[in-house]
Amino acid sequence: MNYKNPDEHGYYGEFGGAFIPEMLYPNVEELQKNYLKIIESEEFQNEYQDLLKNYVGRATPLYFAKNLSQKYHTQIYLKREDLNHTGAHKINNALGQVLLAKRLGKTRIIAETGAGQHGVATATACALLGLECIVYMGEIDIQRQAPNVARMKMLGAEVIPATSGSKTLKDAVNEALRDWINNPVTTHYVIGSVVGPHPFPDLVARFQSIISKEIREQLQEKIGRENPDYVIACVGGGSNAAGTFYHFVEEKEVKIIAAEAGGLGVDSGKSAATTFLGTLGVLHGSKSLVMQTEDGQVIEPHSISAGLDYPGIGPFHAHLFKEKRAEFFSINDEEALRSAFELTKLEGIIPALESSHALAVLDKKKFGEDDIVVICLSGRGDKDMETYLREMRS
Ligand SMILES: *Cc1c(COP(=O)(O)O)cnc(C)c1O
Repeated sequence: MNYKNPDEHGYYGEFGGAFIPEMLYPNVEELQKNYLKIIESEEFQNEYQDLLKNYVGRATPLYFAKNLSQKYHTQIYLKREDLNHTGAHKINNALGQVLLAKRLGKTRIIAETGAGQHGVATATACALLGLECIVYMGEIDIQRQAPNVARMKMLGAEVIPATSGSKTLKDAVNEALRDWINNPVTTHYVIGSVVGPHPFPDLVARFQSIISKEIREQLQEKIGRENPDYVIACVGGGSNAAGTFYHFVEEKEVKIIAAEAGGLGVDSGKSAATTFLGTLGVLHGSKSLVMQTEDGQVIEPHSISAGLDYPGIGPFHAHLFKEKRAEFFSINDEEALRSAFELTKLEGIIPALESSHALAVLDKKKFGEDDIVVICLSGRGDKDMETYLREMRS
C-alpha cells in the first residue's frame, strides 16, 4: 500500500481526483503536466532550499521538551515550525508555489484565506519574488482578523472581500476559483493546504515534507535513529500534518496520530471533527470526507482555532484514516486551551491554538516511558493572544 503518493489521477485509495468545472481544465492540466518536472529540477531545488535556509530560517529546531516530558512520563520532542518566518509552516508551501508559478510564466498570484495566515504567507512570498498578489477573504473574516488584513496590505497584497453566502472561507474559495477561470494564462492559484483538485494535495504535501525530512535527520543526530515511535500533528486541511507524516507513512514501526478540532464536542453541532462527522463527498475539487447534510449541503464547522475551522480534510488523510494507518483524536476547544497554557507554563513557548490540539493528545493517550514522541508545533500563538487573554480573565 502506498500512502505517500497519489496515483496518476490524483487518488489516494478512493479519495482525491480533480472535480472541477470544465473551464478550469486548462489551468489544472497545465499544473498536472508540469509540476513534478519543475519542482524536482536541480535549478528549482537550489533556489527553494536556499530560501528555506536563509529567508525562512530552516532547519527549524527539534526541541527536546524536558519539562513536558517529565510531566507525561515519556520523551517528547517539539518540531518548531513556530520559529519559521511569518510564524508557521504555511510559508514552506507559499514560497514553493510562488516559485513554481514564476517558472510557469505567471505574473499574478491569487489565494484565499480564512484566518489570514495563508494570505500573509502568500503575500510575503509575492513581495519577495515580485508578483502581484490578490487575496480573497470572507467579509466576516476580514472583520475578525484585522491584524492579518493589515499585514497583507502592508506586504502589497490586494484583499478582496467575499460577500456571498456565509461570507467566510468557503465563499472566498469560490471567488478565487471564479478569478482563476477568468485569468487562466497570467494567474496561479496558491492553495494553502493539502486540499483542492489534483495535483494540489500532492504539490503541497511535497513542499511541507521538509518537516519530516528534517525530523529524521535531527533524530538520527540526537538519538541515533531516524524513526520516532509516534508523530503527532493537528489537522485542518492537513498540510502541517502531511509534512510531519510524509517520510514516516511507509515506516511501519512509526505510529501516526492526527488531532482534529472537536469544537464544543463532536455531538454538539459545533465541531470541525471531519473524520468523526464526515461522509464521502466532493469539496473544493476533490473527493474526500466532508461534513455535509444527507442531501450534500456543507455543514458550517466550528473550532476555537480559525486554522482548523474547515468542513473537509485532505484526501491524503482521509486515506490514512480509512486504512487505519493513522489514529484520529478529536480535541475540544477547552482541551486545546488547557494545553496551550500548559506548554507556556512548562516550556515558555506560547503555541498557536491549532498546534495546541496536537499537544492535547498527551492527555488522551498513554505513552511509554521510553517512547520517542514527536509533536509538530505548527505555529506560534501571537495571533491568538486575544483568545488567550479572554481565557485568563474568565
Ligand atoms: C493554518 C494552520 C493550521 C491548519 O492548516 P493545515 O493545513 O491543517 O496544517 C495549523 N496550524 C497553524 C499554526 C496554522 O496557521
